[in-house]
Amino acid sequence: MLREIKKLEERKKLSYKELDNIFTGYLTNKIDDDEMTKVLRLICKNGLSEEETISLTDIFINSGKKLPVNISFIDKHSTGGVGDKTTLVVLPILASLGIRISKMSGKALGYTGGTIDKLSSIGVKTDLTKKEFYNAIDKTNMVISSQTADLCPMDKKVYALRDVTGTTKSVPLIAASIMSKKIASGAGKILIDIKVGKGALIENKKQAMELAALMIKIGKKYDRKVICMLTRMDNPLGDNIGNKLEVQEVVDILKNKKKGNLTNLCVEMATLMYTLAKNVSKEKARSLVKEVLNNGEAYKKFESYVKLQGGSLDDIDSECAELVSLKNGYIKSINSRIIGETSMSLGAGRIKKTDSINYDAGVVLVKNVGNKVKKGEVLCKLYGTSIDYDSVYKAFSFSKFRPSVKGIIINVIE
Ligand code: URA
Repeated sequence: MLREIKKLEERKKLSYKELDNIFTGYLTNKIDDDEMTKVLRLICKNGLSEEETISLTDIFINSGKKLPVNISFIDKHSTGGVGDKTTLVVLPILASLGIRISKMSGKALGYTGGTIDKLSSIGVKTDLTKKEFYNAIDKTNMVISSQTADLCPMDKKVYALRDVTGTTKSVPLIAASIMSKKIASGAGKILIDIKVGKGALIENKKQAMELAALMIKIGKKYDRKVICMLTRMDNPLGDNIGNKLEVQEVVDILKNKKKGNLTNLCVEMATLMYTLAKNVSKEKARSLVKEVLNNGEAYKKFESYVKLQGGSLDDIDSECAELVSLKNGYIKSINSRIIGETSMSLGAGRIKKTDSINYDAGVVLVKNVGNKVKKGEVLCKLYGTSIDYDSVYKAFSFSKFRPSVKGIIINVIE
């Protein structure tokens, strides 16, 4: 083992066999957390070559079960953001357009949310048997289930360690982690949303472009079509952060009651995924997507899926506290990391996997970026306990003049 670490330290390339020795060694407990942390830190510092990243992806894939590739199976993945509820909007849109779509999702860890917790907050079952899985897809065209333990167990173990050792921000590690799961689950066409900005794993466009190119290349190796979207994550996505609160925002979008960055992103994602599924132009796909939002078909699809899985779409009626502005001006930016951490400390997220969460907890932004605000007006509503007003206030930055608000999509790379 030491030999491989020494090679990493000397920035020498590792062969497939050497990478396998390290990572399979870790999965089988021959290598402990301390030694593996050293490896991950070296990879974060020195990177991996393209060839090494492709090898690592293959090693992750081969650590567990592999489902056969299904060329018509479309999947999506996000590198993780605060307030990202796009899966819950995009799947009903596509399902209402006749596309059968299934997605495996995860629980929240740290300050970013997880789709599984959002669904659990409204009573939707996500731990599905094979029969329940196929019943849902036959009846509603869509299904969202929790991640099975048998796909890429090596990524699961390595990711858990990355999460607690500050080694998440590495382009090759992110590429191998995401692509191995998508390839092992059999997806033929994959849309990846790479979040870029202060609240994201990837903080600048250059790194995001590198990650996109790498994931597209890995996809090609396995005959999978990959499209990457680069989207902004400097501010939270939408207004609601926290599980049940986010479902309420999803309902507003699906009922076509909400405009803005989040809605624009969902429309573009659904458009790209529709073009992956059907051979039509983006214009045609976009108009179909807008039609099912306008005529309520996408909302009806979501409602029937929620009912089928035992959930309900009642409003939250719990009490909340309010944070008010101490200034006049415009909202220039809202630090998504602080808002994510606030939501977590209010009870909406977990620090350890075993922590329990309060599904009603979270933050609703009453004023968002670009909005005018007067001293004394409410900036946000806070649901939950242990409110630290001073820290939340630090998330907001103000300007005297109306700031220009950038579009959410930076680039689409195919
Ligand atoms: N999502 C993943 O599944 N893996 C990463 O490394 C980052 C985001």
